[in-house]
Amino acid sequence: KPIVLSGAQPSGQLTIGNYLGALRQWDKMQDDYDCLYCIVDLHAITVRQEPAALRNASLDSLALYLACGIDPNRSAVFMQSHVPEHSQLAWVLNCYTQFGELSRMTQFKDKSERHTHNVNAGLFTYPVLMAADILLYQANQIPVGHDQKQHLELARDVAMRFNALHGDIFTVPEPFIPPVAARVMSLQDPTKKMSKSDENPWNFVGLLEDPKMISKKFKKAMTDSEDPPRVRFDLDAKPGVANLLSILSGVTGKTIAALEAEYEGKMYGHLKGDVADAVIALLEPVQKTFAELRADQTTLTNVMRAGADKARSRAAVTLARVNEAVGFVLP
Ligand code: ATP
Ligand code: MG
Repeated sequence: KPIVLSGAQPSGQLTIGNYLGALRQWDKMQDDYDCLYCIVDLHAITVRQEPAALRNASLDSLALYLACGIDPNRSAVFMQSHVPEHSQLAWVLNCYTQFGELSRMTQFKDKSERHTHNVNAGLFTYPVLMAADILLYQANQIPVGHDQKQHLELARDVAMRFNALHGDIFTVPEPFIPPVAARVMSLQDPTKKMSKSDENPWNFVGLLEDPKMISKKFKKAMTDSEDPPRVRFDLDAKPGVANLLSILSGVTGKTIAALEAEYEGKMYGHLKGDVADAVIALLEPVQKTFAELRADQTTLTNVMRAGADKARSRAAVTLARVNEAVGFVLP
């Protein structure tokens, strides 16, 4: 089976963007792929985190992965920091990545503009750690949202560069970008993507939010002042309405065209109410399972330890080959 690796940062509560763009695909991929899903806590500290909040968000993420259908009997589910090979390979790959390449990464430019007081080296080399995450497991397919495409491209370049110098050490990974609702946008600023670490909570909908709050957030979502108002998909002229349509399409499985026909002559408020209801219905069983799992620390501990053991035994094989290839004396 082809190998798949993916992860999310415990930098806040997972959102419907993470669900539609990542978690839902991760669940489906378990049937056909050998999957590893991690909680990338090493990545999360590239932005300052409050320690207790980070620990809590990491455990919430673990329980949410499971509640969204990730099956620890089929997939390795683990905390990135429990597998030290990620950091070790990242160091080596840092030495095979150019300053200029990293300077071109749009996420770095964006995050360094938003966190001007803490433009740390980890934020800059974030894509190298991500390359290490992927290359450690010889992953073939990487499910990523559009926001991570550039980072995956870099991982491919670094892998090919390393292979050209040292022989066939790494599998060169391919992106897997789901066709529908791959990119969920911010509710208040629909020209930028929804992010769980957004400082404005009205911009995102968390997977653990209560139904009343979810309705409020969609009700307040930014639309436009087209006169007369029309529910139609136009990313440039009507990014807010387009976002609501693509969320509804992602949740219900209906095509955008079918939705446009359904909402012909209807008001934005109508669409917003329906999107909210669809998201609430989608999240109800997830929240219920989450609550049970989150209260069961023994199960969470067992799952993450077993996942880390599985991941480590595989990561160690690649790391040993890398260490040998670059000329380290083997212990
Ligand atoms: P942060 O703000 O801390 O970067 P994030 O919401 O961007 O958080 P990540 O942990 O960076 O989440 O990404 C986890 C996964 O979710 C990745 O596969 C990413 O491509 C996907 N993803 C993130 N945001 C969106 C979005 N708005 N729409 C679709 N997929 C998304
Ligand atoms: Mg992100």
